Amino acid sequence: MIIKTRFAPSPTGNLHIGSVRTALYSWLFAKHNKGVFVLRFEDTDCERSTELSVKRIIKGLKWLGLTWDEGPYFQTQRLKRYINIIDSMILSGEAYKCYCSTIRLEELRKNQILKGEKPRYDGKCRDIKIDLYDSKPYVVRFRNPKTGKVIFHDEIRGKIVFENKELDDLIILRSNGIPTYNFCVVIDDRDMGITHVIRGEDHINNTPRQINILKSLGANIPIYAHVSMVTENSGEKISKRNNVIDVMEYHQQGYLPNAILNYILRLGWSYGNQEVFSLDEMKKLFNLKGLSKSSSCFNIKKLIWLNHYYINNLSVDYIGKCLEYYFQAENIDISEGPILTEIIKITAHRCNTLREMVQLSRFFYQEFEYLSNDVTKKYLNINNIIILQEIGKMIADLSMWSERNLFQLIKLLSIKLNITLSEVAMPVRFAITGSEISPSIDITMYLIGKNRLLSRIGKAINYINEN
Ligand code: GLU
Ligand code: ZN
Repeated sequence: MIIKTRFAPSPTGNLHIGSVRTALYSWLFAKHNKGVFVLRFEDTDCERSTELSVKRIIKGLKWLGLTWDEGPYFQTQRLKRYINIIDSMILSGEAYKCYCSTIRLEELRKNQILKGEKPRYDGKCRDIKIDLYDSKPYVVRFRNPKTGKVIFHDEIRGKIVFENKELDDLIILRSNGIPTYNFCVVIDDRDMGITHVIRGEDHINNTPRQINILKSLGANIPIYAHVSMVTENSGEKISKRNNVIDVMEYHQQGYLPNAILNYILRLGWSYGNQEVFSLDEMKKLFNLKGLSKSSSCFNIKKLIWLNHYYINNLSVDYIGKCLEYYFQAENIDISEGPILTEIIKITAHRCNTLREMVQLSRFFYQEFEYLSNDVTKKYLNINNIIILQEIGKMIADLSMWSERNLFQLIKLLSIKLNITLSEVAMPVRFAITGSEISPSIDITMYLIGKNRLLSRIGKAINYINEN
């Protein structure tokens, strides 16, 4: 049997970490089993579904590499299919038309609440003779069994039992002619041959209803795994927050897809104490048994730790490709400076995000002004002018451009002026980078290059003279 899973977002907002996690688990389960991963948009809620949300979800999944083998399907493109099935269910008696007005249903509800009963449809239209050509508005309800139980085994939670008498005759077609979520899911899961439904635990209550519809259609019942929620530090469910962060926001902030995937993998799944998983390891090791029953709390520190790890452990060529984007985003032209792989080698150990890497290395590509503040005064003052003049001359005369030779210049100058290495290096560093912090002085000078170095040293000397 081919394992088939699906990610079935409703395109009504951002692709948040909680949804990405469900997508990842479904994707990994398919990959682990050499199966098929389907992407399906559940967009029948026309008022809330947007094109923009579809685009965001696709963009986020692609960025993370969670690509699909089939789809994307759109439920709104399958309406005919659903309606044909509903029609035949009406004929066979598996479903029926309900003509109750909203006023009646509202009253029914109020009375039931008053009596302390659970509000539910009372089955008034269950036995009305079928009228194929009616002119009155109606909805179609599924004829749910009145007795017995629905029992299913959840891969994460074990045996789950619902009494049929607790379940309503669910509306499967709205009066506006659009089928409802629970119905479309069932038809899609069946038509698409989904073997494993991995989704959020907020759908547990839908499962017995969906199973009953599947049974009435004589379809196979998939295996279910209901994943626990992700919460904020405050305990609030991420999916329930307004303004949830779209996963592409992490991209903007300089996180790597590998870090995000590794982070959300562990957010609810474990394999011993292992924290770091390469993509291949994830695929190899993932199973439903490792999924946790309890909810998981989002922890940005751990995500940062993983991002730092991946910045330092993935190939510099790959990181270089990712890094280009962030320089472009800041309008920094990198064509005239050192190649990015050199920058990564000397800055990665100090960076948690690729944005930070841009901040730490922008001076390699971009000119800057000295700010008039205490740090500038500390280095660009009359006492240091001699250091800058001397080093400028030595650089101009240097014939072999190497890190080693540049280091020798600093050393020679410190001997000549009888001061420490750092007393030479710091004003030079500040003059050529505009900052007290940079990679080691020799490699920094080396990568900035002779012409830019000389012009910046000249600029620093002018600054001292003018201030
Ligand atoms: N469309 C549903 C949601 O976004 C998911 C339904 C499912 O996975 O069965 O919550
Ligand atoms: Zn009715």
